[in-house]
Amino acid sequence: VPDSADAVLEGLDPEQREVATALHGPVCVLAGAGTGKTRAITHRIAYGVRAGILQPSSVLAVTFTNRAAGEMRGRLRQLGAAGVQARTFHSAALRQLQYFWPKAVGGSMPRLVDRKIQLVADAAAACRIRLDRGELRDVTAEIEWSKVTQTVPGDYALAAAKAGREAPRNPAEIAQLYAAYEDLKRERAVIDFEDVLLLTVAVLQDRHDIADQVRAQYQHFVVDEYQDVSPLQQRLLELWLGDRDSLCVVGDASQTIYSFTGATPDHLLDFRTRHPGATVVKLVRDYRSTPQVVHLANGLLAQASGRAADHRLELISQRAPGPEPVYAEYTDEPAEAEGAARRIRELLAAGVQAAEIAVLFRTNAQSETYEQALADAGVPYQLRGAERFFDRPEVRRAIVNLRGAARFGGNDSRLDDAPDLPSQVRAVLSGEGWTSEPPAGSGAVRERWESLAALVNLAQDFTAARSDATLADLVAELDERAGAQHAPTVQGVTLASLHSAKGLEWDVVFLVGVAEGMMPITYAKTDEQIEEERRLLYVGVTRAREHLHVSWALSRSPGGRPNRRPSRFLDGLRPGSVMTAGRTAIAGPGGVERGVTGGAAADVVPRRTQRTPARCRVCGRTLTDAGEMKLMRCEDCPSDMDEGLYERLREWRGTQ
Ligand code: ATP
Ligand code: MG
Repeated sequence: VPDSADAVLEGLDPEQREVATALHGPVCVLAGAGTGKTRAITHRIAYGVRAGILQPSSVLAVTFTNRAAGEMRGRLRQLGAAGVQARTFHSAALRQLQYFWPKAVGGSMPRLVDRKIQLVADAAAACRIRLDRGELRDVTAEIEWSKVTQTVPGDYALAAAKAGREAPRNPAEIAQLYAAYEDLKRERAVIDFEDVLLLTVAVLQDRHDIADQVRAQYQHFVVDEYQDVSPLQQRLLELWLGDRDSLCVVGDASQTIYSFTGATPDHLLDFRTRHPGATVVKLVRDYRSTPQVVHLANGLLAQASGRAADHRLELISQRAPGPEPVYAEYTDEPAEAEGAARRIRELLAAGVQAAEIAVLFRTNAQSETYEQALADAGVPYQLRGAERFFDRPEVRRAIVNLRGAARFGGNDSRLDDAPDLPSQVRAVLSGEGWTSEPPAGSGAVRERWESLAALVNLAQDFTAARSDATLADLVAELDERAGAQHAPTVQGVTLASLHSAKGLEWDVVFLVGVAEGMMPITYAKTDEQIEEERRLLYVGVTRAREHLHVSWALSRSPGGRPNRRPSRFLDGLRPGSVMTAGRTAIAGPGGVERGVTGGAAADVVPRRTQRTPARCRVCGRTLTDAGEMKLMRCEDCPSDMDEGLYERLREWRGTQ
């Protein structure tokens, strides 16, 4: 712990210091990946707290993921500033909503859906629509998108077509599933993640007394990854802030990757206009990546266009040179996955920690091929961006069991042969399917095992930190972590989508599937969509500290027609020719070898979206009038989005 407020500023460069010491009025930091934005705002909070200027409990730091929030809390503790709330918009809203529900609505808040996918599956069963696992995931994503963009079921088809979304099923079916899902939720008296934000905004708008109470609690706001704030989140932020201006936002327009969910960098880029007196700081030194990685990142940005690109900032690496990025081309996807798994095994054998390696892909559907390949190669892995750790059924069951064992203590026969805490935990979790070695194969069994293994590791770390810890202490720790969604780190190679990797960093990053049709993805058609795909690749590249391995496959399946070519985003940046590696060969370090590459342009067949009748987005009535259809709303229905929110609140009041 630094011994003074000034000591907190050590280890910051002059611009970062400027951010950290600008404690009054609005502050905006515009800077590229790896320039220390997150670090600067974390130190800013710590500095303010240590200098006695900020009350820890009056600060609300908003991050993009629960993991990032957990990391920030950990850093703040290390800097001597414990007690600051670092949360996602969702978790901050959830707490407030829970607290104010009895007063605002009456009764207690409906339970949060714990297995949303299951609820969608139940909705599908009710509609007699069969969905496989992948479709279930995709339909769930469509429902989420609809809610964030305020699209009612009757409007889904039209809105999805307008937004250029590739529907996993025919849009009429999705609309039907979405409606059935909402009905089921009401029937079971549960709310989902998106409802949390919608309802919090509604309560704060509706009830000035409650808004005042929240404003009295939180006086200073800090937002990370502000380029991806959604209109709904921005509204929540404004409601929290009221007429005050102690707001510090940081972001990188070049990393806007959530516009498909309705997020927009405009709030970041227009910050100075909305806050004329704002302190604006730019950071350009990249502390994360080697010059080689930064060179590629800058190259990608140089080709970008659009509003975000107008604000790009060239990165200047502060690190010593490292290896050149490796570019590898494979005949098919399984060969690509095997190639990655083989390289990873080599890296592990060379002493690289599994937790320092990530495989990042464009779509969750790609995950399975890599899970399989890593499992076959005996490489431990963890999936990020899948279900939230403490919401996994096996984790919930395990905690219930541990709690039971803690309560029974000496009377629990399972604990008979166990003197220390980790073996007690192992004994209890054995009943849940934990084994000392991972089970063969991949998929659900393996995932469950990984969760239990993470709990065993957590028990070991916990005991290492507190040698006298009991099972009851561990259960209390787990409860606290569950409340904060602070998942344990799983020792394994990270498999994650590019979207869930933002803000994070690893020594070694494998960017896989960097082919036309994947990046950009087939359904990216407009210039804006293509630019967002480019930014996604930029986010991927800038996750790497040292080693970057970029690969693609010429066809999907073994023996398939080679109909893919490397992503257009790499044109002019990757070496002109690389060797195509089949099942047995692999491109060597540096990746550049003589040979041919080619393959026709990806055969991109856009899925046809089926036209369904236009409906009013508020009441669902079929529209025939051209003017109404343009507005997607009938004349009788209110236009203001707030009305929609009030409507939801009224609806909930009705069910109470
Ligand atoms: P992203 O845009 O990806 O979220 P960021 O701008 O938030 O990146 P950080 O994650 O804060 O960047 O920092 C990137 C890495 O550089 C981290 O490992 C951080 O500890 C390190 N770093 C940042 N600033 C400094 C500094 N002044 N001195 C040394 N290391 C630094
Ligand atoms: Mg960051």
